[in-house]
Amino acid sequence: MTTWVFCEEQNGNASPSALELLTKARGWGDVQVFYVGAGSDTAFTQLGDHGSSAVHHLDVGDRLPAAAAAAALAGLVGESDIVLFGMSSTDRDVAGRLSARTGCPVLANAVEIDPSGEEVLVTNEILGGTTRVVTAATAGPVIVVARPKAFPAEQNGGGAPGVTAVPTPDVGHPGGASVLERHVEESEGPDLEAAAIVIGGGRGMGGAAEKWEPVANLASLLGGAVGATRAVVDAGWVPYSLQIGQTGKTVKPDVYIACGVSGAMQHLVGMKDSSLIIAINKDPEAPIFSVSDLGIVGDVHKVMPALNAALENR
Ligand SMILES: Cc1cc2nc3c(=O)[nH]c(=O)nc-3n(C[C@H](O)[C@H](O)[C@H](O)COP(=O)(O)OP(=O)(O)OC[C@H]3O[C@@H](n4cnc5c(N)ncnc54)[C@H](O)[C@@H]3O)c2cc1C
Repeated sequence: MTTWVFCEEQNGNASPSALELLTKARGWGDVQVFYVGAGSDTAFTQLGDHGSSAVHHLDVGDRLPAAAAAAALAGLVGESDIVLFGMSSTDRDVAGRLSARTGCPVLANAVEIDPSGEEVLVTNEILGGTTRVVTAATAGPVIVVARPKAFPAEQNGGGAPGVTAVPTPDVGHPGGASVLERHVEESEGPDLEAAAIVIGGGRGMGGAAEKWEPVANLASLLGGAVGATRAVVDAGWVPYSLQIGQTGKTVKPDVYIACGVSGAMQHLVGMKDSSLIIAINKDPEAPIFSVSDLGIVGDVHKVMPALNAALENR
């Protein structure tokens, strides 16, 4: 059995999800990476440092990579193999196409993977993380999409992996789409997914601009990052890149402060694994309090200015 980890290059580096998956899988036996991007010694060394014995490198230039990547990957993986993906749009695109090519389903949203028995057991969480579902894969290759941060990324001092260039397969029309422009979203403060403190604002903040200002101010005072619920993003108060939850980012900070957030299950799956959760909500029955370590029942527009003033006066 070989475990394959899909890795799409990010700014010249291996993707964080690939490093997390390598760390998880390297104890199972041979782990190889299917790498998509221009390629660099830095990225290949990162992969080796996290347990990859070999890297299969596909460079499609400015073409959208998913169709070619899935075709090439389908030619490499065997029936007894496990193929691991993260949750980026390219990861999911390739996983779906590989599923169509191999006839094997995708086991999505994995938070645990156990190949130690006769079958590969894949665990995911439903109903806002309150229920765990374990699925046994009975045929392979076993295709798994794992949640970000389900497994920590740790180096194990592995050597530089061998790198093999993968020829770009001709997949016809689906492989013809090109990327014409890339847009890098500008942001201030720490990276949301890596921040130790996250201030999550919800619809209870009441609006953009000065109504949202206490969230940004608290983040600035604590050196944290600003996140938001989908309701806030849909209302256009902040950009989509700040959305936390099922269809947004997953955060796991030391402290998460939820301000005017109800605690819908689609939001909880993106932040419930934070070490300490503090909620401010005027509704004592708000579901966010069920996952909170500390709760303040009150109006965010009274509590937060007082909190910010106290921090400023420290
Ligand atoms: C397929 C799907 C995917 C989704 N993905 C996501 C996702 O990734 N992330 C996400 O967040 N949501 C997602 N949602 C939406 C989710 O179901 C909720 O609608 C959303 O999270 C609610 O956001 P909210 O808590 O800001 O708003 P609300 O649910 O409206 O809650 C506002 C809260 O603010 C409180 N409040 C109001 N005024 C004040 C005040 N002055 N002071 C204190 N508290 C106050 C209220 O008591 C309430 O609890 C998804 C939904 C679907 C169907």
